[in-house]
Amino acid sequence: MEFIVILVFFGLSAGAVAKLKGGSFFLWFLIGFGLPFFGTVAALVMRNERTTPLRDCPACGNVVPVYDQVCTSCGADLAFPEPEDEDDDDEDQAPVAPGQERLF
Ligand SMILES: [Zn+2]
Repeated sequence: MEFIVILVFFGLSAGAVAKLKGGSFFLWFLIGFGLPFFGTVAALVMRNERTTPLRDCPACGNVVPVYDQVCTSCGADLAFPEPEDEDDDDEDQAPVAPGQERLF
């Protein structure tokens, strides 16, 4: 019985970490539950989805992810931003430093 409690706590910890990073709590709860300890570690090292590029809504100034097509604050339609250049060479892209990720 104690083993189940431990698994639940691992699931909760993995889910909580994933939720903080913008992931799915339920998905990571299952991962942490099925893979105790490793699930939590995986959640800790996974890509932080909160670092996705952001932009400001031109209508109300709300900050939304670039892939959102509708402003979550005012409901304005948002066109997908044009790429800044047409260079197809993606391999030379410099890593984006934190704080410089806003496209607009
Ligand atoms: Zn808006």
